[in-house]
Amino acid sequence: MKKKPKTLALIAHDGKKALLVSFVRDHLKQLGKFELIGTGNTGRLVSDAGLKIKRRLSGPLGGDAQIAAEVATGRCQGVIFLRDPLGMHPHDPDISMLMRICDVHNVPLATNPATASLLINGL
Ligand code: PGA
Repeated sequence: MKKKPKTLALIAHDGKKALLVSFVRDHLKQLGKFELIGTGNTGRLVSDAGLKIKRRLSGPLGGDAQIAAEVATGRCQGVIFLRDPLGMHPHDPDISMLMRICDVHNVPLATNPATASLLINGL
């Protein structure tokens, strides 16, 4: 029986979207083995880069919270979240919540490309 692919979430703040796109381009083959989900605008960019991805709401509209719910219910096995550590975000509570939920459920969370590479190779 074929093994069901693991689900990986991709999220990038505006200041990190170019970095995420270049990460995606450099890892198209590895990322193609996952079921991908992402926040609205990030998802659109990933899809433009040539990967199939299911888009959730945009982050500020609740997309991070949707992905946190998927982590909490065992439907998402890894998160790549390129946060902008220098920016202010209206949805900061959701961002902290998503990171907390990953820790609660021991789901790997990468917040920069170096750990993101380790994460996708490790999963
Ligand atoms: P976006 O959301 O992909 O819709 O821009 C990301 C975020 O800001 O959390």
